Amino acid sequence: MTAAADRRTATTSNNRKTREMAKDQLFISYMDAFQASTIHTNRCADCQSDRPCQTGEPLHARFGDLQDLYNKRQSQRNQR
Ligand SMILES: [Zn+2]
Repeated sequence: MTAAADRRTATTSNNRKTREMAKDQLFISYMDAFQASTIHTNRCADCQSDRPCQTGEPLHARFGDLQDLYNKRQSQRNQR
């Protein structure tokens, strides 16, 4: 049996696309959540050690949800 391709699309930075999406509310929320999550993690030893604290957890969860939504929508849009 061949191992099915377990491809994980790493978070890619495609600046051209992000600029087009700048006026997009979902994108704005996504970036906002990304910042909140990142800023918190930078300050929080618990979250850095992969054990999200009570404050950090909702931030990371929100970021995860929005990232998911955003990526889904992007992949739909890419199929023209
Ligand atoms: Zn934390």
